[in-house]
Amino acid sequence: MKDFDEYIEKFEKIMKKYKIPRSKWTPQDEVVYSPKDPFRVPPKEAEELRFKALKYSFAHHYKNNTFYNKLCKEKGIKPDDIKKPSDLTKIPLIPDKFFKDYPEDGKSFAMWLSNIYTGKLPEIYIKKRNPKTEDVIDDFNTSGLTVTLSSGTSGRHTFIPRDADTIRRASYSIAKNVVSMLYPFWEYNMTMYKQTDPSGTNLWVGKSGAVITEIVKEARVGTKIKITPKMVRLSMGGARNFIERIESKIIRSIAKRHREKMIDDFINLLEEMEKRGTKLGLIVQPSFMNMIMKVLERRGLSFDFSENGAMLTGGGWKISENERIPHKEYRERVGKYLSIPEERILDVYGMVECNTGMIQCPEGHYLHIPYTQIYPMVLDENLEPKGYGEVGRFAFLEVTASSYPSFIITGDEVKLLEHCPVCDRPGPVLEPEIKRAKGEEVRGCAEEMRRLFSISED
Ligand SMILES: [Zn+2]
Repeated sequence: MKDFDEYIEKFEKIMKKYKIPRSKWTPQDEVVYSPKDPFRVPPKEAEELRFKALKYSFAHHYKNNTFYNKLCKEKGIKPDDIKKPSDLTKIPLIPDKFFKDYPEDGKSFAMWLSNIYTGKLPEIYIKKRNPKTEDVIDDFNTSGLTVTLSSGTSGRHTFIPRDADTIRRASYSIAKNVVSMLYPFWEYNMTMYKQTDPSGTNLWVGKSGAVITEIVKEARVGTKIKITPKMVRLSMGGARNFIERIESKIIRSIAKRHREKMIDDFINLLEEMEKRGTKLGLIVQPSFMNMIMKVLERRGLSFDFSENGAMLTGGGWKISENERIPHKEYRERVGKYLSIPEERILDVYGMVECNTGMIQCPEGHYLHIPYTQIYPMVLDENLEPKGYGEVGRFAFLEVTASSYPSFIITGDEVKLLEHCPVCDRPGPVLEPEIKRAKGEEVRGCAEEMRRLFSISED
């Protein structure tokens, strides 16, 4: 694989600012920075790296996170109990809903954030007397931490505090996952279009993908509007009073005009790039691209990116859920309007609680898990782990987060397979069509978390 080695060497050179110097590596860094191809690490080696890192990470959060320490004590699990890989399932998991369960007023929110943060927060100076959630986030962000959030289809956000090293590991690994899967397409001299502007948002879907615009010479962004949590809530229909209902109307009408401009800009970009004949990568939400393709259909337009185009999709369909089409059908539509071959249309699956992402392989479009970093599990209704080949609730132990315990029960229903049925990469995969898990079964669990949390606030 000499060619691949050269390809990755080029990538390593431009990723300097995301690398933690080797002399400072902990096991949490080794899993990210040592593999050349995150999806082709020999399984035994990957398991050893991951086990060492999980032991390290679990001990770190056990020791330095007040809330998580209480949870572990309640469950009767301590770091010494994790002696061998089969003990990993004993590590207490946190339901993703927990990170949505924040108080509304700014001061209590700041307190809440400091409780879910692992370690000691830097002194945060909250400027306003009666701060809003947004003010607190801004103040956290100027102190060197980043509060990342999800867009939350329910209008309620998930907040995750990240320190600089946690972000560095996430950015590096997300970029490497993408570059490895797109081999040999990626090159520095290409143009990358990203639908959301990473600098103007704390949304993880925007922020985590920011790095992909930095591994190319030319980046274009679709929207430059700074999206605040309140805007997301209002646009999702979460207005709480008369004034907010008016605000939400205004936001919706601005958003409509803005969307029309984005569509025109996007089509202009396609025209320009097709003429130029150089490589173009597109990072888009499927719902956005679907909207573009409807416009192309109406205008009778199509483009030829059969040689020079690649597309990464992510973030799901969100509020356009009713328009969702299966991945295969989506790729066929992209093929029809942009001529991008299906091996270069890859979906990425991730979430704000997870410090890396899963990505489809070009051969079979199964979602490959970066398995030096993630210990994946599928849980039954009693939240007990099931085996490979079974459908259940997705849970994972992610090893690279140092600012919050990334041991999560998600709200997604998946099928986990030990190997990809199509390609020869050795690690575990998820079937590509992921659904929201039904049911209230995790609610009891969330109640338990809330109770633990109220104790830790005393
Ligand atoms: Zn595969």
